Amino acid sequence: MNRPPAANRYRDAWAGELGADRAGQRLRVAGWVHRRRDHGGLIFIDLRDRSGLLQLVFHPETSGEAFAAAERLRSEHVLSAVGTLVRREEANVNPNIATGEVELQVEEMEVLAQAETPPFPVDEDGQVDESTRLAHRMIDLRREAMRDALVLRDRIVRVMRETLAEHDFLEIETPILTRSTPEGARDFLVPSRMQPGSFYALPQSPQLFKQLLMMSGYERYYQIARCFRDEDLRADRQPEFTQLDLEMSFVEEEDVMGLMERLFARVFEACGFSAPPPPWPRLGYDEAMARYGSDRPDLRFGLEIHDVSDHLRGTGFKAFRGVLDSGGVVRGFNAGPRETPRKELDELTELAQRTGAKGLVWAFVQEGGVWRSPIAKFLTDAEMQAVSSQLGASEGDLLLAVADDACVAAEVLGTLRLRLGEPDTSRHELVWIVDFPAFEWNEGEGRWDALHHPFTAPVGDLSDPGSLRSRAYDLVLDGTEIGGGSIRIHDVDVQRRVLEILGMPEEEAQARFGFLLDALRYGAPPHGGIAFGLDRVAAIVAGRDSIRDVIAFPKTASGADLMTGAPAPVDARQMKELGLRPA
Ligand code: ASP
Repeated sequence: MNRPPAANRYRDAWAGELGADRAGQRLRVAGWVHRRRDHGGLIFIDLRDRSGLLQLVFHPETSGEAFAAAERLRSEHVLSAVGTLVRREEANVNPNIATGEVELQVEEMEVLAQAETPPFPVDEDGQVDESTRLAHRMIDLRREAMRDALVLRDRIVRVMRETLAEHDFLEIETPILTRSTPEGARDFLVPSRMQPGSFYALPQSPQLFKQLLMMSGYERYYQIARCFRDEDLRADRQPEFTQLDLEMSFVEEEDVMGLMERLFARVFEACGFSAPPPPWPRLGYDEAMARYGSDRPDLRFGLEIHDVSDHLRGTGFKAFRGVLDSGGVVRGFNAGPRETPRKELDELTELAQRTGAKGLVWAFVQEGGVWRSPIAKFLTDAEMQAVSSQLGASEGDLLLAVADDACVAAEVLGTLRLRLGEPDTSRHELVWIVDFPAFEWNEGEGRWDALHHPFTAPVGDLSDPGSLRSRAYDLVLDGTEIGGGSIRIHDVDVQRRVLEILGMPEEEAQARFGFLLDALRYGAPPHGGIAFGLDRVAAIVAGRDSIRDVIAFPKTASGADLMTGAPAPVDARQMKELGLRPA
């Protein structure tokens, strides 16, 4: 903690920060009973406050009335105690806690609150079922692991704020009750009581407001912004989450990326997170897809994908030949030396099929470069040699390949690569992905979708949407996208045209985004920005598997808050006021 608490009736020191340099002083501390032990006529209490633990000793003679009171203390009772801080005898020094060299010999104690037995112990790191932890989050947050995570999260945000302030950013709030912004997810809606039948949307991001701030001349904006997306919470998502959201005027891609590198290098350093120093590599989207089968590649391991089509164009193997003749590819990677039983190969094949491939080719490289593979008999030695050599294969290696159209091959091999890769978890790898396609064709809806969002500046010929690239960039850490942003459109005609490409007729564009289109007409500077998922960053830096472990009060996968019981039905009167009918 930065400084001792101002002395008051409860305390004048943080319990967890007292060391031998303060021995001999009379001090007052306050906190919770973490643990109690009775030993040889003495009572020992580990007192816990946010700063850590301190051993209190109650002696039948010197502690007076406090001794009798200490006999009745139980876990999680709250107390304030005064005593003399003394060095522990050599044999009793506890190297496991920061205050292990000292203890407080209590002279007086006041019990401030009693506690019932908590639903699970606070002082043990035992496995407690997560729903029990979430239902009693206020108790769970007392545990050291949770406290450490939230302290770390605070440090991350603090460094972000400090760095951005040094670079002249202003922290500006944007509305929570707003109009829908298209980020591609479903909105949470809030019915308006004063305008029955109308709804606010909770922001999926402050995107349009931050762009408007640039048009209003604020130059550099940031916000630790709460965002809301009503998605099915697969994997590790939350319906509300926090972004570091920022925007800058008169910038290009490298200005934003460069500043973000400086910011994150400082965050990582402050948190003891050993990331390589910037600049971090920039990898084009196409290359990322070709080499790693993913636009968020985990670079902590190799297993790089290669296109081996050129060696097989004249092959007699019909399955390959057919795919190649119709414009497809044969790609594969060297999974390295591994004993792979038939059952595992079947599982990999099944995974490949589930991901969209027609099949998976596997081959073990044997002595002399010969393949053991169901397709070996269809290929010539020269073809096998050429493929092996491009994949850098040696005896004992398992080679995996897929023949399909380029997108399917990338996706399938990317999935297999992740399944088989064994990342070196002692190091971290960052990479910027750039040069994204601007739009992708939405087969189901029969229209183009923006890959990033409709406000990202496109590059290329607007009359050929499929060929357009965008000025977007994503930052990927250990295979997880931690942030993304872009240089924006600042020309009203381009913005109109892009909305049109996305299937939005002029009238609709005007109705939904009239305020943006207007702002673009009144002098909009070139601008760009980015947003980072703060929960995700904090989880990775803290080494936690789930973002729930770095959020004080998270929700479950079904969007429930098990502690407060949200979401909950409301009474009929409230429904009526809002013009809503029960479902
Ligand atoms: N608004 C974007 C998002 O929330 C980020 C950005 O373009 O700045 O993903």
